[in-house]
Amino acid sequence: MNNLKIYNTLSRKIENFKPIHEGRAGLYVCGPTVYSDVHLGNCRTFISFDLIYRYLLYLGYKVRYVRNITDAGHLEGDRDEGEDKFAKKAKLEQLEPMEIVQKYTLGFHEVMRAFNTLPPSIEPTASGHIGEQIEMIKEIIANGYAYETNGTVYFDVEKYNIEFAYGQLTNRKLEDLMEGTRELQGQDEKRGRLDFALWIAAKSETLMKWNSPWGWGFPGWHIECSAMSSKYLGETFDIHGGGMDLQATHHTNEIAQSQACNHKSPVNYWMHTNMLTVNNVRMSKNAGNGFLPGELFTGDHPLLEKGYSPMAVRFFMMQTHYRSTLDFSNEALQASEKGHARLIAAMKTLENLKPTTSTTSDIEALQKACYDAMNEDFNAPILVAQLFEGSRIINSVNDGKETITADDLALLKRTMHGFVFDVLGLGGLVGGPDSYRDNQGQDDKLSSTIDLLLDMRQKAKDRKDFATSDEIRNKLEALGFVIKDGKDGVSWGV
Ligand code: AMP
Ligand code: ZN
Repeated sequence: MNNLKIYNTLSRKIENFKPIHEGRAGLYVCGPTVYSDVHLGNCRTFISFDLIYRYLLYLGYKVRYVRNITDAGHLEGDRDEGEDKFAKKAKLEQLEPMEIVQKYTLGFHEVMRAFNTLPPSIEPTASGHIGEQIEMIKEIIANGYAYETNGTVYFDVEKYNIEFAYGQLTNRKLEDLMEGTRELQGQDEKRGRLDFALWIAAKSETLMKWNSPWGWGFPGWHIECSAMSSKYLGETFDIHGGGMDLQATHHTNEIAQSQACNHKSPVNYWMHTNMLTVNNVRMSKNAGNGFLPGELFTGDHPLLEKGYSPMAVRFFMMQTHYRSTLDFSNEALQASEKGHARLIAAMKTLENLKPTTSTTSDIEALQKACYDAMNEDFNAPILVAQLFEGSRIINSVNDGKETITADDLALLKRTMHGFVFDVLGLGGLVGGPDSYRDNQGQDDKLSSTIDLLLDMRQKAKDRKDFATSDEIRNKLEALGFVIKDGKDGVSWGV
């Protein structure tokens, strides 16, 4: 179980994974801020941690996986001043802030299900843990690392830095960080330029507010993760993850808060996923270059040539290591779609392989190579390459060019099923390989039927029978299919 190595952002080294409790692993991942739809960049981070969670489970660890929902206390521009993201959206959509939270939480879950990610063990919300956050802030004040001004509580970064070093996660010194910081709004209330809010006093128009020892207000963004991770995983736990963009502020402040409260370093292994980019620009809500997963599945986006199945997109993500940037392009997705189809075709062939009395390929070596790839900081692209080697063996045996014994065939099946379905999560539907097999036949039939109808539509168009071609298109669209005419022909999605 214990050959797993993890790149630790804090030490900037690949380290052997030693859990606090033998056979168990505690994993906390910063979840979405549910004031709008998640884009594909957010999905990359959650899918990467799904892979990590799945592999820990596959190795036999008993994992407690906590991924929070930020549904309060997140201001525009991730600052201590400004409009609340939920209240702003609520005004815009004429809904209650909690309706916004509900709407986008449900949407997030739907997307996660489509990508076949396993649900976390606990999914705590910030608004459901206001009490825990207040208690933690009280403790930080009592320990001398925070102060109150006009109902807002700030963390005293310079005071903390005397005893603990601020900025270790990004290997920065306080002086350098100070130099790089501009004077910001609310500065008159803060003692130091880098101080950040633990609790923010409500204004008269604030919709989401709670009573506290410092009056009505709401928590700062960072405190929720410190409060919820320590509640469910302990004051020090094994793995904390999130996107790389959270390293410099959110996670740096989480470490500071937890140390100021408990005098302990909260996390043994910090893991950060790299960004999904579009033409080398980070995909983000603010940059306006975000693809929604639904747009990708249907192809209904100006930059897309066609739609892609969720499993082809998941496979696309698995072909790049989680610590490398992943650039989004039609070509890359099309290549992944083909690769995914080849792998799944081999999985189907595997079902019907017949054993003989000898084996020509080394199946044990293949299995070891799969483990080795994942043990080396969850290297999914190398695993995928090994699984293609597995596919080659499958096809070769099927073509009669190689042979395999019954024992080796069982091992090949175990290895391929385990790594393709359980670890990479390419099963298609939650519930694993069995539901994959049950549904795959139906999906294939549906695909063939739609292709047939689109073929008939094309023939109608060719003979200039536009009434029939339009009727086919309109009826398919009425059933919820999205038909897209691109330069390489017609494509469709659901
Ligand atoms: P948010 O909902 O903005 O708090 O983000 C949720 C998660 O998505 C965080 O862990 C972010 O680091 C991550 N994230 C945001 N943008 C990207 C991106 N372009 N690529 C990968 N992860 C991202
Ligand atoms: Zn967080």
